[in-house]
Amino acid sequence: MEHTRTPHLTARLQGFGTTVFSEMSALAARHDAVNLGQGFPDFDPPQALAEAARQAISDGHNQYAPGNGVPALRRAVADHATMHQGVTYDPETEVTIATGATEGVVATLQALLDVGDEVVVFAPVYDVYPAAVAMAGGSLRTVPLRQDPDGVWGFDDEDLAAAVGPRTRVILLNTPHNPTGKVFSVEELRRIATVAIAADVVVVTDEVYEHLVFDGLPHTTMAAVDGMRDRTVRVSSAGKTFSVTGWKVGWVCAAPPLTQAVRAAKQWITFTSGTPLQHALAPALTWGEAFTTPLAAQYQAARDLLCDGLSELGLDVTRPQGSYFVTVDVRDLGFDDDVAFCRTLPQQVGVAAIPLSGFFTDPRDGRGLVRFAFCKSQAMIAEGIARLATGLPTLPRT
Ligand code: PMP
Ligand code: GLN
Repeated sequence: MEHTRTPHLTARLQGFGTTVFSEMSALAARHDAVNLGQGFPDFDPPQALAEAARQAISDGHNQYAPGNGVPALRRAVADHATMHQGVTYDPETEVTIATGATEGVVATLQALLDVGDEVVVFAPVYDVYPAAVAMAGGSLRTVPLRQDPDGVWGFDDEDLAAAVGPRTRVILLNTPHNPTGKVFSVEELRRIATVAIAADVVVVTDEVYEHLVFDGLPHTTMAAVDGMRDRTVRVSSAGKTFSVTGWKVGWVCAAPPLTQAVRAAKQWITFTSGTPLQHALAPALTWGEAFTTPLAAQYQAARDLLCDGLSELGLDVTRPQGSYFVTVDVRDLGFDDDVAFCRTLPQQVGVAAIPLSGFFTDPRDGRGLVRFAFCKSQAMIAEGIARLATGLPTLPRT
């Protein structure tokens, strides 16, 4: 994306522009396109959860929650971590509720970084992280994720070793990974852990897609890897798991010294997060596999519908292991530029998608890569594919 200078804006944020999610969703709305761009479900959350939120409002849970979060939700977050990952946290001293995973990450970086400290991320990188690092006065070092001939994303130990240096304070890891859909294996987590321990750095994990993992693969948190519990800040949220991306309730789990640091920063950002929604989510978080297994199955079916449809259009599709995104290279169809492609798609074809070149350190590495979301009803995915089938042949090649 082009970056013009924004008057008044601090130098720290010059060059970041407007998030591509806002740009593409605005285009989708303007042209009444099927929005397979920004990741949000087009279906309702579980009725019991919606009802619990209405009830919490009726029950009078409408004033400030405690800064660290409603106790029942902190307890539920701890129970959820034990139930699904076998990691135990003390709700009093190790769990903090945040305004979405986004605030969890932002507050953690505000807490841990001094000006000039470095944060290592894997690229392509979710667009919040570079901006969050910049706002905290840090600088970004990237480790490239690359696809092998089978389309599987991985990283080289040499690249990771080269990215970690004396100023590295944090390795920021997103698994399951947006936008590639990669789920870091236990073996990969161990390779990262070895580097983190040797360099004495903290690993911050963003696990918002922890329950959207397919084909029977497990999701493992870095906090469960040997030697990592006390140097991992584990961030997640309710948005994806419960189809409530607009609720913006997330959490941060970490050993007491790290939690104290995160809370020290978080109290000055939002102070506290939506009280009735916290009350509603507390019981839902311990629904367990009776809820998460059918959820993953539903998303796997949606993934397969979208992937099959994209394959039939002539695209080379690697099925993602997790998340709710699939990435394809539109150069297979003769479109040379992902950004130009996604800017014309809503109006010309009636579909929105996300260009990925801006998620890479060197945009040329992502040229042609386009992300489609499958957190949509099957009818919406089918409609999107039908529009692409009709519209793409008529779209001028760029
Ligand atoms: N992290 C990643 C990797 C995401 O894809 C998203 C998507 N919105 C978020 C964080 C945001 O989570 P929240 O809405 O809980 O802030
Ligand atoms: N995480 C979602 C996505 O990647 C939404 C991002 C956003 O709107 N900032 O599409």
